[in-house]
Formats: sequence, structure tokens, C-alpha cells
Amino acid sequence: MALPVRHLPVVQNWDCHGCTNCCRDYHVYLTDAERARIGAQDWKQVPELADVPLLVGGGGWLSSRYRLNQRADGACVFLDPRGRCRIHAEYGSAAKPLACRIYPFVLVPAGDHWRVGLRYSCPSVAKNQGKPLAEFETELREYGRLLEVQEGLDGRPVPPPDLQPGQSVAWPDLLRFTAALLAILGNRAEPLERRWRKCLALATLCRQAKFDQVKGARLAEFLELVSSGLDAEVPADLEALPAPSWVGRILFRQALAVYLRKDAGPERGPAARNRRTLFGAAWRFAIGRGPIPRLHAALPETTFEQMETPLGPMSEAMAHALERYYLVKVGSMQFCGPSNFSLRFWEGLEALALTFPIVCAVRRMVASLAPDDAIALALHIVDHNFAYNPHLGARRHRVSLGLLRQRGELEKLIAWYSR
Ligand code: SF4
Repeated sequence: MALPVRHLPVVQNWDCHGCTNCCRDYHVYLTDAERARIGAQDWKQVPELADVPLLVGGGGWLSSRYRLNQRADGACVFLDPRGRCRIHAEYGSAAKPLACRIYPFVLVPAGDHWRVGLRYSCPSVAKNQGKPLAEFETELREYGRLLEVQEGLDGRPVPPPDLQPGQSVAWPDLLRFTAALLAILGNRAEPLERRWRKCLALATLCRQAKFDQVKGARLAEFLELVSSGLDAEVPADLEALPAPSWVGRILFRQALAVYLRKDAGPERGPAARNRRTLFGAAWRFAIGRGPIPRLHAALPETTFEQMETPLGPMSEAMAHALERYYLVKVGSMQFCGPSNFSLRFWEGLEALALTFPIVCAVRRMVASLAPDDAIALALHIVDHNFAYNPHLGARRHRVSLGLLRQRGELEKLIAWYSR
């Protein structure tokens, strides 16, 4: 029997507004069945496609993976000059690769159901434009069914991600931890930056605890008790926190560079053109002074000094947009497990926490934009990478993240860039 789909813990809207970004920005990898289906479609009669390879090898010499070919500007080979998908126009939506049909939704298997997440790299999602997600129920159930077939799940639950090395709990208990985080992140009585610092404090306390005998209702009670004690643990005044250390700043700027770097598609940054310009950019991010290399075309010319200049608290609308983003990422479980390079629960949460100062830093870089546009652009850039950019799943980044956590730098960065 197909697993049911559970909805987001927030009011979120979306509809496709035809920007075609998703058809220009991503490599679309194919299953064998999708490759065979596209191979059986007749594209030779379309003059623009007659002499173009439709598929290319997608995983190096030893791999048998294929992906859709792209034009020189990064656009999918099937995107026509009017911005329409030729496969969709000729053969219908069901003939497209599943990845194209699902985007910007993300379905995350969580025990006996699918959780619905979203990609905020889609501008319509970041701006909350379109129909309420409840109106996509039929499509989402269909995608869940197709994914179960594609992944060979056959209604079987996938194992839950570990909390941390050597510590795991069953799905219902893992969802209790998630519920505790959502309760903190959704509490509008305090600024979002403090809510994040409280989530990190909860993670630190839970990392020290053993849960072999604390399960079910007892775990829920434990989490409620610990969460209510966080007020005393986490200072309300962000000015009371020390500034990030030089180690914290260097590691932060390295992570920032990974998030900002766009070296393909229409948003490719002038400083991400080739190895030489990238090497120069890496050096600039290491020293953190002077002009910020333009690794992303949507970012204006600005300086590291500007990025360090406080902008004051966010407007209510900005904070609500960011709150929605984090509730979706945590509520959908997109931040850990198979959806995020198999990061363990707390590590995935800390990776997500690091996006908060990154969003705030981007906000400072685009301070001349209207507040809504600034936050939508920051989310578009950050979520293009979060859980998708392989550099963020690599050992090097995970070691940096571990160092930021162990040295207490994550909390300081969140407070520092919120000012
Ligand atoms: S197959 Fe169609 S929907 Fe998918 S990326 Fe290409 S043009 Fe876009």
C-alpha cells in the first residue's frame, strides 16, 4: 500500500509562474526507465533537436548514469525558445522525468508516511506566491507512489537517521525531537535568532543525554522540560554574546563562498568563470577584506566591510518569511538523513542553523533591495545549495561544521549577523 503524504506545519503557497529557472539551473539525472522512455520519443522531426545529443553521461567514466543534455547557456535541451518544455507539450506531464515533475516539492520518507518539503530556490516558493499547497494533494500522492516504485520501497519504511554517531531512536521518537524543534522555531514571542540559539542549546543538551530508557511519552515530557529551561540557558540580549573568533569567521566565510558560488546557468558569477578567477576568489574569502568576489550574478558589487556592518533587526515580514523557510525545512525532515547527504539528525540541524547567518550576510550584501526582495533572493541563493550542493556533504565541510559547533561559534555567528 502507498505511504500517505503529510503536509507542512505552515501556510505556504506555490504555483509555477513560468520563470523556467529550474530548467536552466539543474542537471536532471534519469532512471533507466526514464532514459528508455525519452529514447522512444520521436525528436528527430524537431529541427533544433535533430543533431543534438539529448542525453549525456552523468557520472564519470565508470558510471552508467545519464542526464538530460544542456545548451551552452545551461538550459535543458528540451526547453523551447518560448520557455516551454517540449516533452510536456508533445507527450504530456507524465512523460517528463520524475525530478522535473516533482520540483519544487521534495518528498522525504519518514517512517510510515512522506513529509512534504519545498525548494526555496524556486522564486515562487521564496515569495510565497500561488495556491495553498493543500490544493496539490492529488499530485503529491501520485509523486509519492511513483517515488516508492522508483526507490523500490514498496510501502516499506526506511530506517530513521541516527541522532549522532552510535545513537538512534525509532521514527516516532525522532519525530518527537522534530516537534520540540518546531515548537521553539515557531514561537513568535521572541526573535528568530534567539529561537535558533535555543534549538542549538537543545541539540547540545540532547547530545549529552542517553535515550535508551527515555521513549514515547517520557521523551515528550523530557523535551518539554528541557525546552522550558532554555530561557535561563540562552541569553536574550544578543549583544551579550562575544563576537565570533577569527577561526569562526574564516570557517564561516569558507561556507559562505560555497553557498554563493554559481558557476553554471544564467546566474553564473563573473568571478566563477574559471580556475584562475576562482582561486583569486578563494584567497579573498580567506582574508575577508575589500571587494567580495562576485561568485553569483544576482549579487551586486559590495565589500566584506559592508557585510560586517549591522543592518538592525529584520522587519516582521522578513522574519516571517525566514520562519516559514525553517519550519518547512525542519518539519519536512529535509535537513538530515537521505535528503541531506545522510547527515545525522543533530549534524543536519547544525548545518541548517549555519544557513541563518549566511542568509543574514546576503541580506547585508543586497541592502539596497526592498526587504521582501532581499530575503527572497537570499533564500533563493541559499536553498539552491542546502542539501543539494555536493560540497556541503563533503568531509571537508562536515569537519568545518563540527569545529564551529565544538567551539560554540554557531551561536556567535547567528547573533553577530542578526545585528
Ligand atoms: S525535461 Fe522539460 S521540465 Fe525537465 S528540465 Fe527539461 S525542459 Fe524543464
